[in-house]
Amino acid sequence: MKSNLPLVEKFFPCKNCGASLRYSIKTGNLKCPYCGYENRIEEVDADLKEYSFKEALRVLEKTKFPPLKEHDAKCPSCGAIFKIEENIFSGKCPYCGTFVVEEVRDFRPIFAKSLIPFLIDRKKAFLIFKKWIKSLWFAPSKLKNSSFELKFIGYYLPYWTFDSDTKTYYEGRRGDYYFEDETFFVNEGGRLIEKRGSVQKIRWRFVSGWVFRRFDDVVVGASKRLPRKIIDSLSPWPFEKAVGYDEKYISGFKGEIYQIGLKDGFEIAKLYMNQVIREDVRRDIGGDRQEILHLSTIYENKTFKHLLLPVWIADFKYENKNYRFAINAATGKIKGERPYSKWKIFFTVITILVLVAALFYLGDKYGYLFEEARRASSPYY
Ligand SMILES: [Zn+2]
Ligand SMILES: [Zn+2]
Repeated sequence: MKSNLPLVEKFFPCKNCGASLRYSIKTGNLKCPYCGYENRIEEVDADLKEYSFKEALRVLEKTKFPPLKEHDAKCPSCGAIFKIEENIFSGKCPYCGTFVVEEVRDFRPIFAKSLIPFLIDRKKAFLIFKKWIKSLWFAPSKLKNSSFELKFIGYYLPYWTFDSDTKTYYEGRRGDYYFEDETFFVNEGGRLIEKRGSVQKIRWRFVSGWVFRRFDDVVVGASKRLPRKIIDSLSPWPFEKAVGYDEKYISGFKGEIYQIGLKDGFEIAKLYMNQVIREDVRRDIGGDRQEILHLSTIYENKTFKHLLLPVWIADFKYENKNYRFAINAATGKIKGERPYSKWKIFFTVITILVLVAALFYLGDKYGYLFEEARRASSPYY
């Protein structure tokens, strides 16, 4: 079958013996596994320039790029045609073992100008996984003692980062506590005794106002390979370790193109920004309680960057179910799906219920002590 994509495949033969090279995490170079020759990568500074969101959208509107399905690649070493999976732009020739990296600009109008290289190797990733499994709360005991056969695959996943100035108008309610003298009843030895004391009340009033915030590098995964809650919680990323894009870094890993476009990516970033803005609004409202009734935000000076970030992905099997997890291959942070022990949760809930019941019993029996203590500490009594 012939490929209908105008592809340029790159590969990296050893300068000494001609063998196909893959990136070495240990040395940060392409070290030949056959003759040991170090094929240095000329490191280029990362291009971490911010690009205008508006201008990019204008360009994107004029270009249509189809989804990248499973496609053919031609091995530049032996000439064989082989398949590269959906959304991936690198692979290994199954006939001669050559690592091939395709030109991303053939697939997408926006392509990564920078990446953070893999800093954590497979061995370390496995140790991180083992430590994680041991640390999980409410995990079945059997899981912690299981041995796992893991197949780690190294991906360069596409990510957007967004900057934006925000202006938010809000309407809401502010609640302030006050105390009022009231008559109430207390249970003393089975008899209800009438007492008078101060009781906490709340006074609500309508408020409105503006809050402003500048967001810097809100990170949004542009891949659909992993659930959002995994892909976006691998942050923070050490952007100071980014380098200029070079296909040589991808050799031996899977490079992925973005499947969540610039516009949709910004919509996800808005959700993250909104969480911070809501906190700002609550602080701005002040008082003892806050209620947000309406928010409207204007996003200005929107800029973005597009990068490839290194992630180890694997899954483990436990009682016939697969659990996916990912490791930030620059920092070692791990996030993933995991099994829960129903029994452990059940017994914890029972223990809490027993404790609460005991407190109620004691409260009922010695309630007057609490009442006395409350009064002694209340400045209003
Ligand atoms: Zn060599
Ligand atoms: Zn080949």
